Formats: sequence, C-alpha cells, structure tokens
Amino acid sequence: MTVIKIEHLSKSFGRNEVLKDVNFQVEKGEVVCLIGSSGSGKSTLLRCINLLETPSGGQIIYKGENILDEKHNIQEYRTHLGMVFQQFNLFNNHNVLKNCTVGQMKVLKRSKVEADEIALKYLQIVGMDQYVNAKPRQLSGGQKQRVAIARALSMSPEVMLFDEPTSALDPEMVGEVLKVMRQLADSGNTMLIVTHEMEFAKEVADRVVFMDKGVIVEEGPPAQVLVNPQHERTKAFLKRTL
Ligand code: ADP
Ligand code: MG
Repeated sequence: MTVIKIEHLSKSFGRNEVLKDVNFQVEKGEVVCLIGSSGSGKSTLLRCINLLETPSGGQIIYKGENILDEKHNIQEYRTHLGMVFQQFNLFNNHNVLKNCTVGQMKVLKRSKVEADEIALKYLQIVGMDQYVNAKPRQLSGGQKQRVAIARALSMSPEVMLFDEPTSALDPEMVGEVLKVMRQLADSGNTMLIVTHEMEFAKEVADRVVFMDKGVIVEEGPPAQVLVNPQHERTKAFLKRTL
C-alpha cells in the first residue's frame, strides 16, 4: 500500500526554485533514505510533506487523498506523520515523560494514564525509560534525540520523517541513535530519512533517493544507487562523501 505519494511537487522561495517537479512515493513498511548535497532541497521536501511549508505546486496524496485539497483537514493529516529534527526541538521546560505525553493528550485526546503508558513503552524502546523525570538540559545530544524519537512514536504515526537526526550530534553519540533507528526499521515502521550516513543507508534502506538541485536524479535499492550509481551527479556526490 502506498502511504505517501508526491506528484509534480514544486516549491519556490521568491525566485529560488528549490523543488522542481518532484515525484516519488513511500510504501507502507518501507524505509527510504533521501541523500544529496547541502542545499539540494531535502529539508524543504520533508517540510512540504508535513506542510510546515506550503508547496508552490503539485500534489501530496496520503492514502489516496490529496491533502492539498481545500476540504482536507491538515491538522488531522499531520497527526499521521512523526517528525524528528536535527535540533531535537524538545520542550525544554518539560521533563522527558511530559515531552512524550503532551501531544498525545492535547492532539489525540488520550487520557494521562494511557499517554503515560504509551510514552513509557517507547521510552523503553529507545532506552530512555530511566530518565522520565530528567529535563532536556540534563541530557546528552544522543539522549535528547532518542527522547525526540520516542515522542514522535508516541503519537502512533503512520510514517516517521527524519531530517538528519544525527548531524548535530557529537560523533560518539551517532551510533546510539542509528541503532534505535535500525531497530525501528527492522520492526516494520515506515520511515523517510534524510541522512548523510551512507553506511546506515546502505544497510537499512529499502530504497535510496538521490536529490540534486531540487530534482530527484536517481533512486533505487542501495546496492544500485550507492554502489553502482548510473548518473554522473550521483557518482560525483558519492565521491565527495567518501
Ligand atoms: P537541504 O536540506 O538539502 O540542505 P534545504 O531544503 O534546506 O536543503 O534548502 C534548499 C534551498 O532552499 C536552499 O537554497 C535554501 O537556502 C532555500 N531555503 C530553504 N528554506 C528557505 C526559506 N524558509 N526561505 C528561503 N529560502 C529557503
Ligand atoms: Mg536539510
């Protein structure tokens, strides 16, 4: 089943055309890694998918429905997408547990008991259940990112979107976050991941999408795109990242 389908998506900031006729889709249970140089439009694409940015043109189809259609409830749509940012974006005034429950109670109208239970389940999965009372400032970057992942999962999203989740981390903390993501991938979560971690992409992705200057240049299984790329631009990019 196709969960998200992007058709002819474009986005301009003023005269800067950042996304140009982007087409691709994510199937249920699929792990897609989106790679490409800085400035190629990867974050803008994720931000358009969850409507943090309004696309300039094209369609975003979620389970068969065009969510850019006027009559579609954007707030409802957003609850199906879990987003993990480079900079964690935790609520610094809330402890770890509350970070993972406020959205559940406010948006999904879950009771506190239920929200706590669900949050604890995911905090356990990311190995942060011992820190329920800690405030974000007491945590390392890797721990914060694991809480951010648990928070997103607590909303029971249909798709998890990750925007360079390890790029702001000290090198020694990258592994613990990738390990959690690998675990999520193995347990069947649908994931769209912007990353510069080529080894991770090679091992975990079902499909790799290479973007350059706002267009998808090449996509396919990691063994094809990362090991035996067909396009010159992909080859040049991979050479630079080695
Ligand atoms: P990537 O995530 O691949 O590094 P981005 O999507 O962040 O690329 O950026 C692509 C281009 O869009 C860049 O030229 C960037 O300057 C521009 N851009 C991104 N967000 C904005 C914005 N809010 N306003 C104006 N320009 C933007
Ligand atoms: Mg980016």
